[in-house]
Amino acid sequence: MATALFTHWSCLEHETGPGHPENPGRLSAVLRALDAERFQYLDRRQAPRATLDQIERVHTPDLVTRLQASIPITGIVSLDGDTVLSPGSFEAALHAAGAVCAAVDAVMAGEVRNAFCAIRPPGHHAEPGQSMGFCLFNNVGIGAEHARFAHGLRRVAIVDFDVHHGNGSQTLAEHDPDLFYGSTHEWPLYPGTGALGDRGDYGTVVNVLLRAGSTGAEFRAGMTSRLLPALDAFAPELIFISAGFDAHRADPLADLALVEDDFAWATAEIAAIADRHCRGRLVSSLEGGYDPAALASCVAAHVGTLMEV
Ligand SMILES: [Zn+2]
Repeated sequence: MATALFTHWSCLEHETGPGHPENPGRLSAVLRALDAERFQYLDRRQAPRATLDQIERVHTPDLVTRLQASIPITGIVSLDGDTVLSPGSFEAALHAAGAVCAAVDAVMAGEVRNAFCAIRPPGHHAEPGQSMGFCLFNNVGIGAEHARFAHGLRRVAIVDFDVHHGNGSQTLAEHDPDLFYGSTHEWPLYPGTGALGDRGDYGTVVNVLLRAGSTGAEFRAGMTSRLLPALDAFAPELIFISAGFDAHRADPLADLALVEDDFAWATAEIAAIADRHCRGRLVSSLEGGYDPAALASCVAAHVGTLMEV
């Protein structure tokens, strides 16, 4: 069965201003890489808008209203130090969250085995009531709630190998016995959450902390010893990947030293657990990655692995 690729042109129209690391050039680089011949069998689909019902299963109506009201007619406005809005930002955010929901639908219908959402803005820092850290809506969180609401799933897992801790996603899992959140991240680093001792009320949170300078060896050891066994024991009915590639050694925003093969390895390991528990059902969504060339080659390694499993 095929791998689907969900994206939408509006995700290129979320402008962040000169010098901002989370810029449209990132997504252009990813889409160029996925145009290569080896990706000709991807099932390419347009991401729809998420509905307000889908978004408000995670976010407060007040956040949605405030975001929409803050969109400028021209230029750029700043929500906080790093999170900015341009005229196209709300539309981009709707399609980014909508991509993950549509990917869930396609995977659950058995039309494809797994899916990758090439979208921006990213999502894992967005809290229920607060956009932050380049993230407007928590795309993967919205997808996870959609999977439970629209498809009757109970146990859903999120694996987040972005170099930053996904504070917004952990918030969703902390008080929920049926939502697993496992993260590998550099420590200490923005946003400062994701301590080793965080387990959530029901033990569904697992954080693997990596010191600056850690290589793929430490990343794989942390995955193998803690995150993957916990994911396996959780026995998910669907797995999401918060696929950030800013742990790559070339990334300007962090200090880990992963390479393309490490991301391919992690993808294959997660896919093997999906095979064991849920017929391979896996939905991956782009989070960070701020060196465009490294990001593009990492996404190629990740999606290439999804196509082979
Ligand atoms: Zn990140």
